[in-house]
Formats: sequence, structure tokens, C-alpha cells
Amino acid sequence: MQKHNQKEHLYKLLVIGDLGVGKTSIIKRYVHQNFSPHYRATIGVDFALKVLSWDAETVVRLQLWDIAGQERFGNMTRVYYREAMGAFIVFDVTRPATFEAVTKWKEDLDSKLVLPNGKPVPTVLLANKCDQGIDVLMNNGIKMDQFCKENGFVGWFETSAKVML
Ligand code: GDP
Ligand code: MG
Repeated sequence: MQKHNQKEHLYKLLVIGDLGVGKTSIIKRYVHQNFSPHYRATIGVDFALKVLSWDAETVVRLQLWDIAGQERFGNMTRVYYREAMGAFIVFDVTRPATFEAVTKWKEDLDSKLVLPNGKPVPTVLLANKCDQGIDVLMNNGIKMDQFCKENGFVGWFETSAKVML
């Protein structure tokens, strides 16, 4: 319940990455605590709202923007990115090409959007489908911490929308 003395913060967060990496599934898991194995490509843009009782005085509303992968790098993304405060870039650990696309997504984002203070939007990298094994990360010998540093990510996490890791 919203109390009178509570402060409310609304943040727009982007969830981007190639088609099929699990963007919609991650949002579903986070907001609705469920998962579906059936693939349904997102059409256009979807929104989901996650409301967090941050503390006794603060409510945080996270507006998660979910885009269809095929709209990448078009003029659409500029409109879609507008006024976002943070971003998640997702790749699928079972498909190396989706990891290679990560830097392209980051460049697209940074070229079209900066925070009001002129800084790049804080972006977190998500290595999704880790329930399938993390062979791709291992086999490529990717040093993820270093990769994040070199490419301007604030950090990275192994995720699964399907199971608790
Ligand atoms: P999007 O195109 O990035 O939104 O990807 P979706 O969320 O639609 O997911 C694509 C497919 O991958 C679907 O069949 C999902 O069920 C599946 N999927 C998504 N996340 C995971 C995960 O963490 N683990 C596994 N095993 N499958 C996943
Ligand atoms: Mg989707």
C-alpha cells in the first residue's frame, strides 16, 4: 500500500540483445515469477512494471522495456531508448554469435542515448541460459570482468529465466 509520506521513483530500464536470447523470459521471471518454454517473439515493444518497496519511505517503480530483436540498430531504437536510466544487454551462452552482438548493442545504445549528465547509461551484461551450461564462456576463454571493463559495462551476471541457479 502506498503511504502518504512515501517517495516514488520511476526508472525506465531497457532490456536489449539479439532475438531469442531470453529478454522476454527474464522480464517474465522477474516480474511474474514464471517461465514458458514456448517461443513467442515479441512484436514491437512490451512493457512490464516491477514495483519494489525499497524502504519505509521509498517505492521504486522499474519500467522494463522489452523490444523485439529484429528491430536492432534501426531508427526505431532511438525512440525506444529515449529517457532510459539503465540497460541490460542479454546474450545466450549457448550461441556465441549473440555474445559477439553484445558490443554492437552497446555501441548502438551509447551512440543514441546519454544520461542528462552526459554520461553513458549504466549497462549490465546478462549471460542467460546458464542452466544449459556455460561452455561458451569457458571455451572462448572470455575474461568477463575484463570484457566488462574494456567495453563499459558496470558488471555482469550469469542468469537463467528457466531455473534457479
Ligand atoms: P527474446 O527473443 O530475447 O525475448 O527471447 P525469449 O524470452 O522469447 O526466449 C527465447 C527462447 O529461449 C524461449 O523458447 C525461452 O523459453 C527460452 N529461454 C529463455 N530464457 C531461457 C533460459 O534461461 N534457459 C533456457 N533453457 N531457455 C530459456
Ligand atoms: Mg522477446
